[in-house]
Amino acid sequence: MNQIGHFINGEMTPGNSGRTSPVFNPATGEQTGEVSLASVEEVDAAVAAAAHALPAWSESSLATRSRVMFAFRDLVDQRRDDLAALLTAEHGKVLFDSLGEVSRGLENIEYATAIPQHLMGGFSQQASTNVDVYSIRQPLGVVTGITPFNFPAMVPLWMYPNAVACGNTFVLKPSEKDPSVALLLGELFHEAGLPEGVFNIVQGDKVAVDRLLEHPDVEAVSFVGSTPIARYVYETASQNGKRVQALGGAKNHMVVLPAADIGLAADAAVSAGYGSAGERCMAISMVVAVGSAADPLVEAIRERIPAVKVGDGMESDSEMGPLITREHCDRVASYVEGARDEGATVVVDGRESEFAGNGFFLAPSLLDHVKPGMKAYDEEIFGPVLGVTRVDSYDDAMKLITESEWGNGTAIFTRDGGAARRFQIEADAGMVGINVPIPVPVAYYSFGGWGNSLFGQSHVYGPDGIDFYTKAKVITSRWPDPATSTVDLGFPENV
Ligand code: NAD
Repeated sequence: MNQIGHFINGEMTPGNSGRTSPVFNPATGEQTGEVSLASVEEVDAAVAAAAHALPAWSESSLATRSRVMFAFRDLVDQRRDDLAALLTAEHGKVLFDSLGEVSRGLENIEYATAIPQHLMGGFSQQASTNVDVYSIRQPLGVVTGITPFNFPAMVPLWMYPNAVACGNTFVLKPSEKDPSVALLLGELFHEAGLPEGVFNIVQGDKVAVDRLLEHPDVEAVSFVGSTPIARYVYETASQNGKRVQALGGAKNHMVVLPAADIGLAADAAVSAGYGSAGERCMAISMVVAVGSAADPLVEAIRERIPAVKVGDGMESDSEMGPLITREHCDRVASYVEGARDEGATVVVDGRESEFAGNGFFLAPSLLDHVKPGMKAYDEEIFGPVLGVTRVDSYDDAMKLITESEWGNGTAIFTRDGGAARRFQIEADAGMVGINVPIPVPVAYYSFGGWGNSLFGQSHVYGPDGIDFYTKAKVITSRWPDPATSTVDLGFPENV
């Protein structure tokens, strides 16, 4: 059994709390590892290492930090396949998705290589006589990231490359469900030339999270996970005086207007609804079919579902892997079970597909006539269950989006440019797709939702990431002209 520990002060550090959590290969159902759950003392050791490394790292030159980021970028690029294989082995997503995840993470390292540009301040000469005003951004100190299971490589990479490039030191608390890929990335970061203690990883559960949220030496918390925990992290860390950004769960609507290319919309709904087994915060979980779009769209999605090859993510022809745990698989299936009683139509029942072995597999399901008030509409399912809601008009579709408690992302499919333009202005969500089902920004635009998908005001990575991990300072300086000044400022003669 693989024993998975921490990474503290540049070293793999076995856990000693005596508490562990099982790690599975979701494709086989076998337990492959045991991850240590940090005690308060172990979290304190990681924070102490980060605090010790802080003075030297925060004073390191921008050139040094940029060079480390370039080296890290190259190492991650060279090890893409190893990282993807490790990710698939614990998460279950297909290798193609894992490679995609590593690529998206890599883009955030690439963004951080440009840290000299990102930290440039402003300068106003002669704001008043002999007075210049200028701005700089300085690191916060020790900062922490707490991350979910569904993107165990990419979501941490949304955070720590920018944080560390800004001159902070970092403690990461990955998901206990798939903890290994974070450790390999930590080793590569260290190999890239990062001094000991600048980047640390503690594995753990609520005990570790709570200690990080209250630790007096932690200045800021970045969190990504479900809405209830995001709210808790935001409130607790804020009460403890920390800067917090806490990204929560989601339920994303994809509106299909009658003027849409129905084939394109169906392809998008299938890939965005069932890709990565629906375990994406930007997955499409509700298709909102407007008017006459509904019948052909439901039929087109239904026709495509049998072609989605569900299997072990390590096999090259698999398109959708298993869910993360047996419990989660059963929970997702319960939404299909309950849907008919609530008045929805089960068009495709994923529970009817059988799989050999003990993997946590559930085939795609399609529910029609889903409405607000039904569990399948109101709750985040986070699995391969796509719901269709039928509405009469664009305005009815917009009302559903506006009234949703979440606001991570939304999308519209149409061939009408005017409708698309109106949608992008009116949609109550942080990220909007037009004929794009998963509108995930690139590394140079920040990522974040509205409503209960984000607590705090700062989006993650990109320009918001640089702002979040730095404190702004404005300096006003007066240097009287030595030729005319009567004040002795200590200039040498004849300046
Ligand atoms: P989760 O909220 O269960 O866990 C996230 C992190 O919080 C983990 O590190 C976990 O150990 C920790 N945690 C769990 N329970 C805790 C508790 N009671 N107290 C303190 N810490 C606790 O989320 P998950 O199941 O790992 O991930 C899936 C969720 O994340 C979904 O809701 C998904 O929508 C969301 N997500 C959101 C985004 C986004 O950008 N908004 C991105 C990815 C995932």
